[in-house]
Amino acid sequence: MLTIKCARCKTKIMKYKKIGMGKVLRCYKDRITRLYDGEVDGDNLICGNCETVIGQIKDNKVDMIQDHFTYSGSKIRK
Ligand SMILES: [Zn+2]
Repeated sequence: MLTIKCARCKTKIMKYKKIGMGKVLRCYKDRITRLYDGEVDGDNLICGNCETVIGQIKDNKVDMIQDHFTYSGSKIRK
């Protein structure tokens, strides 16, 4: 499980079940296990605290903006 945080204010955005190694480039909605302070604003996923845009929502996934978030936790090996 990864905990995704806002890069600017460190607010927790969501918990995400990452499968496989590599960068977090996009998040599939059905693998987001918990939404903390992430908020949906139109097509954007934003930080509920400082309103930084974390990613752009497209259909069933969120394209993550690399400089706008950090994460901690472990990835699940395939
Ligand atoms: Zn923030």
